Amino acid sequence: MFVPMELAEVKESIRRNMEIAPRFALKGGLRPSIETATHAILRHQVVIHVHSINAIAWAIRLDGPDQLKDRLAGVNWQWIPYAASGIQLAREIEKAVASEPETDVFILGNHGLVVCGNDCHAAEKRLCEVERRLAIAPRRFPKPDTTVLATIARFSRWQFPTVDSLHALGTDAVSRKILRGGVLYPCQAIFLGPAMPLFPPAVVLSKFTERLHRSDRTPPFVAVERSGVMLNERMTSAERATLIGLAQVTQRTEESARLRYLNGEEVTDVLSKGAHGCNEPAVMEEKANPRAGIKELDEERKIGYNRNECVS
Ligand SMILES: [Zn+2]
Repeated sequence: MFVPMELAEVKESIRRNMEIAPRFALKGGLRPSIETATHAILRHQVVIHVHSINAIAWAIRLDGPDQLKDRLAGVNWQWIPYAASGIQLAREIEKAVASEPETDVFILGNHGLVVCGNDCHAAEKRLCEVERRLAIAPRRFPKPDTTVLATIARFSRWQFPTVDSLHALGTDAVSRKILRGGVLYPCQAIFLGPAMPLFPPAVVLSKFTERLHRSDRTPPFVAVERSGVMLNERMTSAERATLIGLAQVTQRTEESARLRYLNGEEVTDVLSKGAHGCNEPAVMEEKANPRAGIKELDEERKIGYNRNECVS
């Protein structure tokens, strides 16, 4: 999963304000991360960047910086407000480090987490410690009502999810409210689209065929209010993993939390750039192979880690 790069060459690209990832051809299906610039500008030997559930659950909150003061007391951390992936994000991190050079943990607004260390062990230990402090217990959610979902299951392409927690996106009122708000982080827009397919049961019963079962643009999943979630069997493993992550984030976000959503311009930018290097052949192949999305989660995670950073 690692792509060797010449550090001097990467730094020269940053100096000239040139994005790095697109300039490198795929080597054996791998391409450098879109966040290569961020990895390169940090002085540490090891830089870990993850989109972990708990980090995102804090990173989407307007009060995130205040909430984390106590939780991360004693850690050299900084909050980086949302910036587009690539050079722009690297510049924001560079500025933050210039004012506080000791920083080795960055919470990236509407994005994720960066943790640094001078060797793998130190970085991993720090990541575990930060994750432990950021951990949030998920909310309980009502069980799915399969009456309406069974109607959808009659259509050949749709199936019940094997991961129960996904139903929360339909059965949990707080999760539905969060979904209706829009896009919380780039991977959500890239893999699941800019608008969430969330419908009242009546619409599903009367208009499912015309609205959601057309062959041209069927969504990867559908959430039905108070009923639960159904998955399109053509959904890719990356889409499925992103959806599971989104459900886990919403289950860790309380109703009273005020959230920052990506604005229209930010979403357009994410989608136009195929940010995070996700519109890559590995993902495309799965699109062409409809059965590829139906795998056990462990298998998906393996594929996700190997193929692109978005599923991590
Ligand atoms: Zn990222």
